[in-house]
Amino acid sequence: MRFSKAFIPTLKEVPADAQVASHVFMVRGGYIRKVAAGIYNFLPLGWRVIKRIEDIVREEMDRADAQEILMPASIPAELWQETGRWKKYGPELLRFKDRKGADFCFGPTHEEVVVDLVRRETKSYRELPLNLYQIQGKFRDEMRPRAGLMRGREFIMKDAYSFDVDVEAAAISYKKMYEAYKRIFKRCGLDFRPVEADSGAIGGSQSHEFQVLAESGEDSIVACDTCEYAANVEEAEHRAPKQPGIMGEGELETVDTPGTKTIAEVSEFLKVAPTQLIKSLVYVADDKPVMVLLRGDRSLNEVALKKITGATELFLARDGQVKKAIGVKPGFAGPVGVSIPVYADVELKGATGAIVGANEKDKHLRNVDLARDVKVTEFLCLRAAEEGDGCARCEGHYKSYRGIEVGHVFSLGTVYSEPMGCTFLDEGGKSKTMVMGCYGIGITRIAASAIEQNHDESGIIWPMSIAPYEVTVLPLQVKDDDVVAAAEKLYSELQDLGVEVLLDDRKERPGAKFKDADLIGIPLRIAVGKRTLGEGKLELKWRRDAEASNIDLDGAAEAIAALISSEKQALRAR
Ligand code: ATP
Ligand code: MG
Repeated sequence: MRFSKAFIPTLKEVPADAQVASHVFMVRGGYIRKVAAGIYNFLPLGWRVIKRIEDIVREEMDRADAQEILMPASIPAELWQETGRWKKYGPELLRFKDRKGADFCFGPTHEEVVVDLVRRETKSYRELPLNLYQIQGKFRDEMRPRAGLMRGREFIMKDAYSFDVDVEAAAISYKKMYEAYKRIFKRCGLDFRPVEADSGAIGGSQSHEFQVLAESGEDSIVACDTCEYAANVEEAEHRAPKQPGIMGEGELETVDTPGTKTIAEVSEFLKVAPTQLIKSLVYVADDKPVMVLLRGDRSLNEVALKKITGATELFLARDGQVKKAIGVKPGFAGPVGVSIPVYADVELKGATGAIVGANEKDKHLRNVDLARDVKVTEFLCLRAAEEGDGCARCEGHYKSYRGIEVGHVFSLGTVYSEPMGCTFLDEGGKSKTMVMGCYGIGITRIAASAIEQNHDESGIIWPMSIAPYEVTVLPLQVKDDDVVAAAEKLYSELQDLGVEVLLDDRKERPGAKFKDADLIGIPLRIAVGKRTLGEGKLELKWRRDAEASNIDLDGAAEAIAALISSEKQALRAR
């Protein structure tokens, strides 16, 4: 492509609504343009990146025996009513009516449609396993679309669905997808970790998220420094401590703590460390109040509490609800003498000498012995895992990271196949329900994550495998016939070799071309300039390196093509 003819509207200014690097550089580099909140146009450069990511995904899915199909974006409500999701899914689901008034939704995910297809067409164990996938625009009316492509409302997803005869066979399909995902994210040049995850509303027993490690990520994950274990903090377990997390001696007493409501205020007022205090939180789990006890410096893992209580809706009680449940407002709430269920974190088992709210305004209790003074319903792993915690699987310790979820594999069991009657006849002619898995990849989110991991202050530094062009050729003096001829020749030879090349033939000064090249982030840059040309050389610079080097003009195209292919090979082999 010639830059002079290309639709690459680069910008000097940082867009007002962009905070993270991927958003800033995709807009400034002329990759995307906003249409509405979370909804974007992909311009030629942006679309080229998406297509390259899709190609990698397709190759690896096909290699793992998944078959590509395309399902419609518009889905009749009846299918979603069969699984109950029409009611349950909430406002993220975009619903609309056709001219006859029939209800539809714009698909945010396609379990219902694919199960409907398979239950009609697949009848025998001989046709299983089956894995169908598609790459498609999805719509989710996200509450907070943010960071450009990172959390869009309309975005491109690869979604795959596997169908098997039983749980053992389904586990094989799951593993195949897991391995394919590792290859995909490696080839995309991402630094990622598969982590154990909460299977959330979709259900099923096994689930892994593929998290790209990046400071701007929304997810918190912990990874063991010794073994392979890594998990979303929503899911992470940790080793129970060898001794109670709070220990002390003394008589149980009531102390005045006027106006001190927070852990920080109480610890400051009583001159004790927050680790000596117990935090008493009141939650409402499906309309029922429950109390949670954590050491003062810890935070709650709400997903764990949700699982323990079995609640579908869980939130921190408002002041009035706390008062109704235990007779005092939060701040002075405590577990002694309450009649609601009390769930305590395991590290509080055997705690003595603790400070808790006295369930009386402006008062706390000191030297509480949990075994003696509190009726604990159950001790459980309730706090969010933190850096330094003991690993649940080995003797190692956790390090914490921020992550961006680029992919998710779920084992679904029969959550969808059962209510929708997706059955087959087994070898003995008996009807059985198919066992499923579902596997998503955020194609557009991969593009954003790759930039989060690969940029500097001047712009993007694309991994070779997903860059919009592999090399950019910059004739520096556009009025010099020799320079122009050499650049044109190289451009044409590279194309003959199948290299994706952008020729910056614009009548711009070298400085402007270098600036745009850095912003757009094509991994290899070849400058064709009068000075080096006189010596039979071209200047080659990797976008990721500070220094340039010279290569021979003779055989330059072949040398560049070889560099590109070994770079791609290196990504696969990581
Ligand atoms: P999240 O927790 O980020 O909302 P999710 O659990 O809703 O993700 P899945 O339903 O598992 O996501 O979707 C599969 C993949 O689609 C995710 O791993 C992610 O990469 C991508 N994805 C999900 N929501 C969005 C979005 N709003 N914008 C871009 N990509 C998305
Ligand atoms: Mg979501």
